[in-house]
Amino acid sequence: MSPGGRGCQCDGRHCPRNEDKEAMCDIFGDPPMSRIKTMMDLHPAYRAYVDLRRSKEGRRQLHWLQLTTQQREKERMWLSQRKKSREGREQEQAQEPAPATNAHSASSTEQQDIMDKGMDMLQQMRAGFGME
Ligand SMILES: [Zn+2]
Repeated sequence: MSPGGRGCQCDGRHCPRNEDKEAMCDIFGDPPMSRIKTMMDLHPAYRAYVDLRRSKEGRRQLHWLQLTTQQREKERMWLSQRKKSREGREQEQAQEPAPATNAHSASSTEQQDIMDKGMDMLQQMRAGFGME
């Protein structure tokens, strides 16, 4: 499936079959406990990936072992980073520039000027006719 026939058909970044055609695929194979232990030391995202791919392919879900404190911390960090970047994207979308109000306020100032001038002229005319 992969270009040049290299790598595993599952496209999993850490799949051992990428390096060794005799190795057990993490997705299409049935990883033994030793491989599960190895996978648990990899990035937590890979475990999530394996779970997702296996369920899509109709493979049975792997039984992950209890996370060690270190692994749990790694997973917690990863999840909070992922959450942060998602919130960051939402904030960027919320900060769309509002429609500019400058054009409107400029024209209303201009109109006020004309009105003022008109009032001046009217007062001058009244003064001229001796109506004040
Ligand atoms: Zn594979």
